Amino acid sequence: MSNNAFLVDTTKCSGCRACQVACKQWNNLPAEKTKFFAGTEYTNPAELSAITFNHVKFFPVDISKPEKPVWMIMHKKCYHCEKANCLNVCPQKAIIKLEGWTVIDQALCIGCGACVDACVYKVPHVLDKDLSQYGTEQPLKSGKSYKCHACTVNKRDVPACANVCPTGALSFGNRQDLLKKAEARLSKVKGDFPLASIYGVKEFDGLGVITILKNSPAVYGLPVNPKPVSAERIRTIHTVYAILDNFTLGMPSLKRAAYRISRNLAG
Ligand code: SF4
Ligand code: SF4
Ligand code: SF4
Repeated sequence: MSNNAFLVDTTKCSGCRACQVACKQWNNLPAEKTKFFAGTEYTNPAELSAITFNHVKFFPVDISKPEKPVWMIMHKKCYHCEKANCLNVCPQKAIIKLEGWTVIDQALCIGCGACVDACVYKVPHVLDKDLSQYGTEQPLKSGKSYKCHACTVNKRDVPACANVCPTGALSFGNRQDLLKKAEARLSKVKGDFPLASIYGVKEFDGLGVITILKNSPAVYGLPVNPKPVSAERIRTIHTVYAILDNFTLGMPSLKRAAYRISRNLAG
């Protein structure tokens, strides 16, 4: 795990989306074609995608006290799980830990989608068209999986999203310091938000993104006690895949077929 982490303090987030824009600019990612608005909330675009590495998620406004409505907003990106399901399932070993962050090596990726299925946070996405005029060190290619790389690929000292946050809702720094800061902040906001909680301390042995929430994680769609993938099943899939891969001639389409067969055989 990296010594550093992100701290998302939803009690300070104004929903301005500066983090979304900064990530697009720094990583040269194209804009999404969106609807106005994307969903019943104000989230736009509606979800993360292969070309949107972070987004600001709006939840229904809590109007249980009509005189004091509570806006529920959360910055979302890859959580950089210490024990990452995506990394464990990848048959190509294309997902690695780089300086403690979970990063996809697109040169090895075959677009099989195992990481997409295994991530309980629905973070990685396989790109379905060629956009290689976009991206920087990682040109956006069809049939490759993309997600936040914590600004390790297109490197900078403070990740672009954390650098621009105007309200202090998103910060970056030493993980232990941020955990202490989060605990202190939680005690302070409990007066206004009695059900406030912290997410990311223990999940998957610790996340690289610690989030202070105004309510319980479930209200924000975050899984409580998320489970690691079955090590035994993954071993079976990878063993079969290693055998079938001998007949794929290195072709991504055949490799994807080999992965599908291996997964189906494992049940
Ligand atoms: S949040 Fe998903 S994509 Fe990110 S490290 Fe965890 S399992 Fe992998
Ligand atoms: S799409 Fe498949 S090969 Fe590519 S990173 Fe995800 S699991 Fe690995
Ligand atoms: S850390 Fe970098 S790549 Fe990840 S969401 Fe922020 S700006 Fe984008």
